[in-house]
Amino acid sequence: MRLLTHRSLNPSRFAALTPSSTIAANDRLQALRAAGKDVLSFNVGEPDFPSPPPAVEAARKSLAQGYTKYAPSMGLPALRSALCEHLRDNNGLELNPDQVLVTPAKFGVFATILALIGEGDEVLLSDPSWVSYVPIIQLAGGTPVFVKTRTSGFVLDPADVEAAISPRTRLLILNSPHNPTGAMVSLRHLEQLADIAQRKDLWVLSDEIYERIAYDSVHHSIAALGGMAERTLTVSGFSKSYAMTGWRIGWLTGPAKMVARLGALHQHALTCLPAFVQAGALAVLQDPAAAQYQKDMVATLRQRRDLLVSGLQRIEGFACKAPAGAFYVFPETSFVLRGTALADHLLEAANVAVAPGISFGPTREDHIRLSYACSSGVIADGLDRIAEAMVGADLQPRPAEATATS
Ligand code: GLU
Repeated sequence: MRLLTHRSLNPSRFAALTPSSTIAANDRLQALRAAGKDVLSFNVGEPDFPSPPPAVEAARKSLAQGYTKYAPSMGLPALRSALCEHLRDNNGLELNPDQVLVTPAKFGVFATILALIGEGDEVLLSDPSWVSYVPIIQLAGGTPVFVKTRTSGFVLDPADVEAAISPRTRLLILNSPHNPTGAMVSLRHLEQLADIAQRKDLWVLSDEIYERIAYDSVHHSIAALGGMAERTLTVSGFSKSYAMTGWRIGWLTGPAKMVARLGALHQHALTCLPAFVQAGALAVLQDPAAAQYQKDMVATLRQRRDLLVSGLQRIEGFACKAPAGAFYVFPETSFVLRGTALADHLLEAANVAVAPGISFGPTREDHIRLSYACSSGVIADGLDRIAEAMVGADLQPRPAEATATS
C-alpha cells in the first residue's frame, strides 16, 4: 500500500497549502461547543438568521417532487435568467444568461484565479483581505502583492494600487463590501480603479459576496462601468446577503467566453449544483417576501453593528469606527498582547472567539476581526467578557513615550 506522505504531494503547488483559518476556527468552535463549552463566537462570518422561508419552502417542494438528479451544469435556465434580471435591476449589469454560471462564490474565486494566473504572475489585493485569496493565488503559481489600505476607514487608494503595478501584474482583486473591515469602495474610487485596469490592461476579480449588506451607501459593481464588462469576473452569492451559507450557492458572471471556460472547470470539479438548492435560490429572487426578509436582516445587522462598535469604543485598547457594510469590525488594538496571542487570550480567559488580524494581512498584527452576525444578547455579553478579560492589560507605549524611553 502506498501511503500519502509529504513527498507524494506536488511540492511546488501544495507544500505551502495550510487550512483556511476561518473554516478551521469554525470547526474548532463546533468541537468546543459539542464538548459543552459556552463560547461566544465573533469569529466566522455566518449570519445567525434562518434562511428566508420562501427558499426553504421551494427547496422542500423541489425535493418532494423528486428533483434529486443532475441539474443543468451551468445552472437552471430559470435561475440564470432571474439572475440577469436581478443584477440588471440592482447592479446595473447588462448580462445574457450565457454570461452567468451558477456556482458557489468561493469556487468562482478559485476558478477565476486558476484560469487567469500562471507562474510568476502578480495579483494585487488589499492588506487586509479575506483569508483564502492568497493560498489560491499561490496554488496557481502566482505572487500576491498586498496594497495596504489606510487604517482610517480602510480605503483602498487607487494611487497606491497604481504604484504597486509591475509588468507581471495580471489581476486586481476587489472586495466591496469588504471582509474583514466592512469598508466599501466609493463610486469615485471604483471609476479610478476601472481607469487603471484599462490603462494597465488588468483583469479584475470583483468579489461582491456582501453586496446586499450595505448600511450607509449604495453598492456598485465595477463591471457596470464603461469598458469593464470585458475584463471583469464578478462573483457573489446567497450565503451572506440571504443567510444561506450552508446551501453553497452563488454565481459568477463575466464575458461569455470566459464564463464558458470557467463553466468547463465547474463541470469537471462540481458537475452542477443540486436542483433543489437552485430552486430555493430562485425563490429568493422571485418572492417579494424574501426581499423584505433581507431588508429586515440588514436593519437588524445595523443595530448590532452600532452596539458592537460603541461597546468596543468604550474599552481601552480598542479603536474602531462604524463600517459601511458587511458584518465585520476590524478594530485596531494597542495591547502588548497582539495578534494570535490576543485572540487565544480572549478565547481562554473570556470564552470569546475572534479572528486575529494577522490572518488577513501581513501588517495587521494589531487588529482583530469580530463578526457581528450574532444576536445582540451575544454582543452585549461578549463585550462584558472582553472588557473583563482586558482590564488592566498592558498597553503598548505610544510613539512619543517609546521615543522618550529609547
Ligand atoms: N467568509 C467567511 C469568513 O471570512 C466564512 C469562512 C470562509 O469562507 O472563509 O469568515
